[in-house]
Amino acid sequence: MARYINAVCRLCRREGQKLFLKGNKCVSEKCPLARRAYAPGQHGQNKPKLSNYGLQLREKQKVKRMYGVLERQFRRYFATASKSKGVTGKVLLQLLERRLDNTIFRLGMGVSRSQARQIVRHNFIIVNKRRVNIPSYLVNTADIIEVVPKERAQKRIRENLELTKDRSIPSWLEFDQAALKAKVLRLPEKEDIQQPIHEQLIVELYSK
Ligand code: SF4
Repeated sequence: MARYINAVCRLCRREGQKLFLKGNKCVSEKCPLARRAYAPGQHGQNKPKLSNYGLQLREKQKVKRMYGVLERQFRRYFATASKSKGVTGKVLLQLLERRLDNTIFRLGMGVSRSQARQIVRHNFIIVNKRRVNIPSYLVNTADIIEVVPKERAQKRIRENLELTKDRSIPSWLEFDQAALKAKVLRLPEKEDIQQPIHEQLIVELYSK
């Protein structure tokens, strides 16, 4: 399964905003974006005025990078969203937010989305009483998410929960931390994402 493996802070610098790709380092003074708030590379400090296409492209890249999704898969999400009955942009964000790795990240069981993805890949997660090790698995309303009853998995998740204790759990999820058991109360909405996303720009880009 393909994924981005280079230095992730470059991605935030390229997009000019925090994408929170490194867990707790992102909220500390060590975040490179605080010291070098310009794009990486030799010409990073020359900020050209973006065309309409440039703005659309940057928005798409930002969201893709935020969720750790590569181009082909992102296009597939867009195709599914545009075929659905709902508003394309809204459904696109919903699909990304419903990914199991993102859900684990939102619950604080992973400090970053990439770590949450690893947790899923390592067979630590049970959904509706079945082990699921596919990070792109889409959670649904009323799904029950649990941690496998293995000491190594439970220890790792509890350590992560300690590190992410200041994070709030979005209202579409209910989490019993003592039992390490969560429930999907409803599908996520754009307001639950808490990061500025202009999904209409992405819709315009792919609709050309
Ligand atoms: Fe982005 Fe986090 Fe790196 Fe800051 S520390 S640049 S928010 S990945």
